This record gives sequence, C-alpha cells and structure tokens, in this order.
Amino acid sequence: MEEEKPNQNLILDGHKLAWHKDRVNAWLSGERIAPITIDCALTRKCNYRCVYCYGQLQANDGKKMTKDVIFRFLDDAAEIGVKAISFVSDGESTCSPHLYDAIKHGKENGLDMALGTNGALLKNQKLEEMLKNLTYLRFNISAGESKRYSQIHGCREKDFYKVKNIISECTKIKKQNDLDVTIGLQMVLMPNFKDQLLPLTKLGKELGVNYLVIKHCSDDASQSLGVDYSKYFDLIDILKEAESHATKNYLVKAKWSKILSGGKRSYTKCYGAPFMPQLSGSGLVAPCGMLFNRKFKRYHIGNIADTSFKELWKSDKYWEVMNFIVSDKFKLEKTCATLCLQHKVNEYLWDLKQKKIKLKNTLGESPQHINFI
Ligand code: SF4
Ligand code: SF4
Repeated sequence: MEEEKPNQNLILDGHKLAWHKDRVNAWLSGERIAPITIDCALTRKCNYRCVYCYGQLQANDGKKMTKDVIFRFLDDAAEIGVKAISFVSDGESTCSPHLYDAIKHGKENGLDMALGTNGALLKNQKLEEMLKNLTYLRFNISAGESKRYSQIHGCREKDFYKVKNIISECTKIKKQNDLDVTIGLQMVLMPNFKDQLLPLTKLGKELGVNYLVIKHCSDDASQSLGVDYSKYFDLIDILKEAESHATKNYLVKAKWSKILSGGKRSYTKCYGAPFMPQLSGSGLVAPCGMLFNRKFKRYHIGNIADTSFKELWKSDKYWEVMNFIVSDKFKLEKTCATLCLQHKVNEYLWDLKQKKIKLKNTLGESPQHINFI
C-alpha cells in the first residue's frame, strides 16, 4: 500500500506573497507599505560557533536591546500593520533574557510569532507557554550524530543530547496540549555534511517533529565561507533518499529551487525588502541581513534603540534606502550574498513587475504560516 504523504499545505520551498494581494497591490501602486514579515534577533550573541555561521559576516555596532526597546518595536510593528515576526536573523535569541516575554508580548499584540534557535538554552519550564504563543519553532540542527554535531556547530557533544531532549519535550507538550504550533528542524547543508543527512532525517522522525527542511548554505559576494555550489548537484540522490522517509506526519523537504540554482538569480532588482526587512540583534534596521555588516553603512536605516521603528519606517531614509536597492545604481551581483532570505519573494515580484505573471484572485486553500512570507 502506498504510504500517505505529509501535509503539502506547508510551504518550505517557496513564498506566500500571493496570499497578500492587498499589500502587493498597494506596493504596485507606489504606496509606502508596511512589511508583512520582519525577521530579527534579540541579540547578536550566540552560544555556538557553527562552521557556516553567516552571523560572523554581519558584524555591526551594537546597542543594548532592552526589554523596553524590544516591546516598543513589537508595539510599533503591530500598529503599522506588520503581521508576523520571526526571531532568527543574526543572533541566537535564546541568549537574550527577554525572549519569552517578547514572544508573549508580540502574540498579545496580534502578531504571529516564530523562533529559530539551536535550542540549547531553551528552558524546560518555559516551553509550554512559549509554544502556545508561537506559530512555528524551528531548531537549527545540521547533524544527527553527537560527534559531528559538535564539530559542525562548534559546541560540546553533550549539547547534542541536551537539544534532543528539548526537542522531544517540545513535541510532547505540543501533543499533550493539542497545540497548533509547527515544530521543525532545519539543516544547513554544506556539501561535506552529506554523511549527516540520513541520520538527521531519522532523528527528526524519532523526535516527532513536523518536518525537516534541508537548505543550502548562503555565502557573501566575496565567498567568505567558500561554498562550492556545483557540489550540490552530487547530492541529488541522497537528498531524494532523505525525502523518501517522509510520512503522513513528518515532511522531509530539500529546498530544491535554491539547492539546484547553482547560486544564480533570475532577477536583477530586489523588490522584496520592503515586504520583509530584517533587523540585526544589535537593533540595526536594514533592508536585509546580508547588508548588516558595517561596511554596508550606506544601507543602514537606523537603530531601534535610538529611534522607534515606527519613526524609522516613516522616515525618508527608510524609503531612500529601499528605493536605492531597486535603482540601476545598486548592483546585486557585486553586493549581495547568494540566495538571501528574500530570494523567493524577489523572484515573484520581479516576474510580476515584468508582467510575466499576474496577481490571481483565487488561490485555493491558504498555506500554513501565511504571514511568514
Ligand atoms: S547557532 Fe546560528 S548564530 Fe549561532 S553560530 Fe550557529 S549559525 Fe551562527
Ligand atoms: S537581493 Fe540583495 S539587497 Fe535584496 S534582500 Fe537579497 S541580499 Fe538583500
């Protein structure tokens, strides 16, 4: 008998902008739109030293992200019409003492909240309340065996077991309380991690998570991390094998469109940033994380510790920067990193602007996590 496949309603290799027609139309008619999703971090600190960490390429001058600063940001976001906030970006938000309060406050403001974390610092006694307030919780885990885990993540082997216990506790709480939160694993796949693909796939199933997503590793325009995109083509068979472990309740998905893109883009302008800008764990507001580094100061809009996000968003500087990155003066191929967070949204908006596609009226069933575009 053919095994039933998992919920296809979870988009892990795509975007959800098509379900935000009003905002896309407002943008098309030249309005200064509020972002739909903001990705940010509560700190730039991290307890790990992953070999592929892009955060190290994003160094910028930090300000203290106090509870007041974070709450004011979450209030502003809700007020101007942002729909979802993910705590991922360039730091490990579990290193902030304000993580749990921030998730709760954002949710109380009507925002959809999400967290991406290595998980090692999550506190057992806080999990239940946190999970009730999250749309998704994603563990960043790139190995399924303790020794390789410690090599890849630059941590102790015992952290592997700690994280396993935390994940298992989360899936248990979700089940016991019948919570809506989606719990997933994300593997950043560098070609030399291929030995960990199947152990991690099996671990995800054992821990009872909803999905494992496997993504490429981003590199900056100078290829500081030395990612050889041509090597991903050798991994097709093993990735397919990993995907074959999917069940009704466990989706295993490689981000094929990025993995097989060879690191190339189909667009020459970045229209996506106003729909999903990013904030550094230092409080810095920029079009995207790839431009956090202090060498990209020209694209830095301001810091939420100094000026409220609402004021920054309304400022001429915000729109000057957003307009500059779609001008002919901005050369994506020289400045931008490969396959950024906004990549799929950029592809869609580019095709829309080029009139290769149209905004559709009916799209069928809404996907999960619709506000995390
Ligand atoms: S857990 Fe994230 S922020 Fe920390 S070192 Fe790894 S990739 Fe970087
Ligand atoms: S295309 Fe460039 S400017 Fe736009 S979001 Fe990606 S990295 Fe940033």
